[in-house]
Amino acid sequence: MTTSAETLRARARELSGRPALHYIGGRFVEGRSGGRFETLDPATNKPITDVAEGRADDIDAAVAAARKAFDEGPWPHLSPAERARYLEAIADGIEARGDDLVAVECLDTGLPVTQARGQAARAAANFRFFAREIQQEHTTAYRVGDSFINYVVRKPVGVAGLITPWNTPFMLETWKVAPALATGNTCVLKPAEWSPLSATLLAEVIDEVGLPEGVFNLVHGIGEVAGAALTTHPGVQLISFTGETTTGQEIMRAGASTLKRYSFELGGKSPVVVFADCDVDRAVDAAVFGVFSLNGERCTAGSRLLIEASLYDDFVAAVGERARAVRIGDPFDESTELGPLIRPEHHERVSGYITGAIEEGARLVAGGRRPDHMPEGNYLQATVFADVTRDMRIFQEEVFGPVVVATAFADEAEAVRLANDVRYGLAGYVWSGDVGRAHRVAQGIDAGMVWVNSQNVRDLRTPFGGAKASGIGREGGEFSFEFYCETETIHVALGGHRIPRFGVKG
Ligand code: NAD
Repeated sequence: MTTSAETLRARARELSGRPALHYIGGRFVEGRSGGRFETLDPATNKPITDVAEGRADDIDAAVAAARKAFDEGPWPHLSPAERARYLEAIADGIEARGDDLVAVECLDTGLPVTQARGQAARAAANFRFFAREIQQEHTTAYRVGDSFINYVVRKPVGVAGLITPWNTPFMLETWKVAPALATGNTCVLKPAEWSPLSATLLAEVIDEVGLPEGVFNLVHGIGEVAGAALTTHPGVQLISFTGETTTGQEIMRAGASTLKRYSFELGGKSPVVVFADCDVDRAVDAAVFGVFSLNGERCTAGSRLLIEASLYDDFVAAVGERARAVRIGDPFDESTELGPLIRPEHHERVSGYITGAIEEGARLVAGGRRPDHMPEGNYLQATVFADVTRDMRIFQEEVFGPVVVATAFADEAEAVRLANDVRYGLAGYVWSGDVGRAHRVAQGIDAGMVWVNSQNVRDLRTPFGGAKASGIGREGGEFSFEFYCETETIHVALGGHRIPRFGVKG
């Protein structure tokens, strides 16, 4: 049974009465400077609560706690089954506090409640998945005739710095924390400053589970201050970052002198390639869901519709009609499909893209402005542009809001060319009834992930990540273990192989 919107709203208000603190070395603490910042409710832009503002000295303390837990603590030396028990307990805790998490996420991000529920369920699933995976980890051995046996072991790297964005904060935090801990690393999480509240709930769940102190640490703060301190810290061996491409570039520059390993999950401008022979009704459903779910603030959003010329007018009309009917409203309302954008600044940025697209000559088919019935908060209509050309900014740049553009193509070759004609390469979607063509086009798209005749449906075992400016590396299943572990090869001589003898007299 789902909890009513009213109960959730009341619970969210109650939870919002507390300031969000750091969690360092197993204790909830204020920042050393005593500074705080506010987090806002996107539906009203009124402050929700204060958040401790982390600075370099807070990051120092968190890294020291994580280092101690790694060097002296039992964590890296526990068996996978023992660590898995902790991860399962965290998943149980997330499920037990599911309503709180959904309430806080909804209040802090503006995600519609039905979608926030899905994200909370995914968060628990992330912990359960990596708990299972780590127990199945196995090693590779290379036999060299009778003379050597070489085998590979994977070991935790040390202290993991985890930096996450504001769009689906809780789910993305667990996507990094779960594999980092499963593999025996300790970690410091720096969540996004625009939606920091659910990270504190995660720390509460972890605290209740009784994870050894210092294994998981949380420092809130501004990216350029707390985030930057984490990425330049010599005590941090790896950084898993999800966020904007430009921030990833900055992090890589800043971390160069301490030579860290990076996983970057960055921006996207993903194409949805629609051929006239596809199941058009399903393609329309997926296209509309793919760009307007999660308030359009989805890294893998299908934000460019590339449509075969013979289907173009009908498809654009169908998507436009559906966009006009998307239910915009209070995120706590069960029927809401599209909630408010995260911040007024972001609303302004997305609106700027809409104005720019009109100036560039794109044809506005649906939306384009604030809905009349939502005068407050950061609400924006589901927006569709047609007749968009590759040279327009709205075709090239990530908007990260409920805005989709449509462009016609003549044939398969042009479809692939247009799909690849942007700097990003995170995801792609292909719709066609011709099996061979669907595979050809999917393989022709330069992206980390392509779905055929489907919206974004994740299998946690598969590699997740982007090509080109959308990222470096992959996470998910064993690919996460690749990233979070050091690989060590042990070469063992089995007998008397020849050893060159230097310095032997005579
Ligand atoms: P952002 O890059 O502004 O911030 C992400 C995180 O980095 C935040 O925690 C922020 O505080 C921190 N940060 C900012 N500057 C920093 C610095 N100089 N050093 C260290 N840390 C710093 O991104 P955002 O606006 O929070 O998120 C939106 C972006 O995230 C979009 O581009 C979206 O596509 C991308 N995203 C990608 C994925 C993916 O899996 N590829 C998933 C979700 C979001």
